[in-house]
Amino acid sequence: MSKFDFGQMPDREGFFGEFGGQIIPPELKKIMDEIDQAYEEIRQKPEFQEELASLLTDFVGRPSPIYYARRLTEKLGGARIFLKREDLNHTGAHKINHCLGEALLAKYMGKTKVIAETGAGQHGVALATACALVGIPCEIHMGQVDIEKEHPNVTKMKILGCKLVPVTRGTATLKDAVDSAFEEYLKDPVSYIYAIGSVVGPHPFPKMVRDFQCVIGQEARQQFQEKEGKLPNYITACVGGGSNAMGLFTAFLNDDDVNIVGVEPAGKGLATTEHSATLTLGKPSEIHGMKCYVLEDENGEPMPVHSIASGLDYPGVGPQHSYLKELGRVNYETASDEECLDAFMTLSQVEGIIPALESSHAVAWAMRKAAELPSDQTILVNLSGRGDKDADYVANKLGL
Ligand SMILES: *Cc1c(COP(=O)(O)O)cnc(C)c1O
Repeated sequence: MSKFDFGQMPDREGFFGEFGGQIIPPELKKIMDEIDQAYEEIRQKPEFQEELASLLTDFVGRPSPIYYARRLTEKLGGARIFLKREDLNHTGAHKINHCLGEALLAKYMGKTKVIAETGAGQHGVALATACALVGIPCEIHMGQVDIEKEHPNVTKMKILGCKLVPVTRGTATLKDAVDSAFEEYLKDPVSYIYAIGSVVGPHPFPKMVRDFQCVIGQEARQQFQEKEGKLPNYITACVGGGSNAMGLFTAFLNDDDVNIVGVEPAGKGLATTEHSATLTLGKPSEIHGMKCYVLEDENGEPMPVHSIASGLDYPGVGPQHSYLKELGRVNYETASDEECLDAFMTLSQVEGIIPALESSHAVAWAMRKAAELPSDQTILVNLSGRGDKDADYVANKLGL
């Protein structure tokens, strides 16, 4: 047993050590506390648990398999690499796990509308899917600039029946979409619910989203035991806000022999300003209602961050990751845009699996590490999503 009981986190106020909490006006704090209380009650109900479990099985297609990447392993000549195939979920990524949880919670709480923002549209599509399934109206705010860039996701959201609200104020990108969605939510927070897209924001969202994603690690731990008769030596996942990583890591936190590595985007290099390596180069601060590591400029404003993977470019990070870094329980490392592209192409051509650019960061780290390790070691990579959405972009970039 580990010296920390990671099952007991966060505390009642939503703190992971000094990180997390609710840095919001008192009126909003009351609303968040009500959501927390409702969540804690509803999650215990057998009918909620049964409904969520059967949808994860029959709709999402869980459990996702663990796949031994034999050809990739042989190519690298070191540790054996395994992939947890979240890319095989319905909608093609891990996000459906928490979107389904949030939509179902909204239904059980009697909410009349689910509201969210989306950047590249991945959270929007997963949420619109979950809301269509559960039968609850859904409203997604998206910057006009992003709407023009992310045409396929915009079309999908419309087909799925959600109300898409274009945001033209400011720079017409993610930050403005957050502000716009939040204003709509505040018009009637008793009837509406805001669905956050990662393990970020004020308590209870980092906890709730993590709980809904934990199924990844619970399955993976058991599947790996059954396959190999022991636990992996290393587990790894990419970290944007940190939801797919918390989803994998949580079940292994008390296994002291399992090395845990989160991989952040080094973008064009850690020496440039074009990266999104929040835990690696940021410092403890506040953003979006929580205390966590933040990348800030010299004026203390959130930095404009960059990654080739749009799902990873966030200047903050989940409070639990911030705490796990400080404890030293998880190591946070980086992979650059270039390494990510190389991993994307290699996995595609050696294994016939096109990974999302986000997930390719974890694959890139695993490839680097595997080559350094002896062949009796194992690395389990969370393949958070599939790369269909990135295929045109990569082909353009590489002149294919
Ligand atoms: C959104 C996304 C991510 C990043 O989000 P986290 O909350 O850090 O997991 C990673 N991979 C894929 C495929 C995504 O769509």
